[in-house]
Amino acid sequence: MFDIQEIRSQFSILDQHVNSKQLVYLDNAATSQKPNSVLEVCHKYYTELNANVHRGIHTLSQLATEEMEIARRKVQKFINAKYDFEVIFTKGTTEGLNLIAYILTQKLKKDDEIIISYLEHHSNIVPWQLLCERTGAKLRVIPIDEEGVLQLDYLDKFLNEKTKIVSVNQVSNALGIINPIEEIIAKTRKNTNAYIVIDGAQSAPHFTIDVQKLDCDFFVFSGHKMYAPMGTGILYGKQEILEDLPPFHGGGEMISTCSFDGTTYAGLPFKYEAGTPNVGGNIALGAAVDFIYKVGQDNIQIHENNLLEYAQKKLLEIENIKIYGEKAKRTGVVSFNLEGVGISSDVGMILDKLGIAVRTGHHCTQPIMDYFNIAGTVRASFAVYNTLGEIDLLVEGVKKAQRMLS
Ligand code: PLP
Repeated sequence: MFDIQEIRSQFSILDQHVNSKQLVYLDNAATSQKPNSVLEVCHKYYTELNANVHRGIHTLSQLATEEMEIARRKVQKFINAKYDFEVIFTKGTTEGLNLIAYILTQKLKKDDEIIISYLEHHSNIVPWQLLCERTGAKLRVIPIDEEGVLQLDYLDKFLNEKTKIVSVNQVSNALGIINPIEEIIAKTRKNTNAYIVIDGAQSAPHFTIDVQKLDCDFFVFSGHKMYAPMGTGILYGKQEILEDLPPFHGGGEMISTCSFDGTTYAGLPFKYEAGTPNVGGNIALGAAVDFIYKVGQDNIQIHENNLLEYAQKKLLEIENIKIYGEKAKRTGVVSFNLEGVGISSDVGMILDKLGIAVRTGHHCTQPIMDYFNIAGTVRASFAVYNTLGEIDLLVEGVKKAQRMLS
C-alpha cells in the first residue's frame, strides 16, 4: 500500500513554511530531500562511528569500513552489478563522467569520434570536449526533433569504425524525456567496439536499473538526487574495462605499493577511490537505497507517473502555456514557459513567494535552450513525497504569475 502521508512524515523538511507559505518542493531533479532514516544514519555515523576507513586496525575504523562496504553491496544490488568492486564511490555524476573521460584519454587518437546527444547535461558535454582537446578526437551530436526526442537515424549515420565512445543520458534533466538507451546500446554494440557510458543521474531515482541487462560499460549517477546526502555518487564500470584502464586521482588508498622506483596500484574498487572517501555519506547512500526498496520501486514509478500526467493535464488548461516535450515519453519533469510572459525566472520568483520551489533557467543544458531558441524554462520536478494537491498549488501559482506578468 502506498500511503503518501506516511511517506511525507518521513521528510521533516517538508513541514516547514517558506515565505509564510507551506513549502511545496518541486525541485527534485536538482536535488531530492532526504528521509529521516537517511539523516539518522548520518547522525549515527558522526556520533558513534566516525573513523577513517581501510587504514586502521582499531575498532571504529573497522566498523566504519564494514558499514561502507555494506553500502557498496546495497548499491551493487540496486543496479544489479555483477561484482561489488565494480561499484566506485564518487562525489556525483559530474565526477564520474570526468573520471571516465580522463581514463579513456590513452584510448583515443586524432579523428576518432565521440557520440553524445543534444539532450545532455553540461557534465556529459564538457568532459568530452576536454577529451577532444587532449586527443584531437571529434564530437558528434545526435540532434532532437521539435518534441525534444532524439533523432536516432543520426546515430545510425554516425556510428562507424572511428566511434570510440557513446555517452548519453537515460533521462533528460531539462525535459524529463526518457531516451531509448536499450536501442542506442544495441546499435552501438552491433556496429562498433565503442565504450558505452550512461548518465543515470535522472533515471536512478525513478527506475529500476540493471547494468548487466543494459550491457553498458559505465553507468554513473548522483546519490543526492535519490534521497542520499550531497557529495555522494556512483560510478559503475565493467570489471575488465576498469582493470584495463589507468587510475584517475593518485594518492592514498589507490596504491598497492609506493616507492620512488615506481608505484603499483590497488585492485578495484580502490584503484579509483584515492583519498579519504565521504564515509558517512556513502553509508547514508546505502540507507537511501533501503528507503527506495521500502517504498517500492514500482510504487514510486506509478506515483510519479500519476503526478506527471496530472501536472501536464492541469497546466495545459492554462492558456498560452508551452510544455517542452509535451508528447514525448517522460518521467519526473514538466518543463514549460508562459508564452509572451517575461522570462522563466520571473515566474520562478512569484512561485517562490507562494512557497513553491521550482527551477528556472537553462538547467545546465544550454544546447537544448538554443535549439528551442529560448533562454530557459520553468521546471517542476517530482519525487515520491509530492502530492496532487501540491500540483494544484503549482497550477494556481502559475496562473497568478501569468496574471501578474502579462
Ligand atoms: N547529468 C544529469 C542528467 C543531471 O541531471 C545532472 C544534475 O542535474 C548531472 C549530470 C550532474 O549531477 P551532479 O551535479 O550531481 O554531479
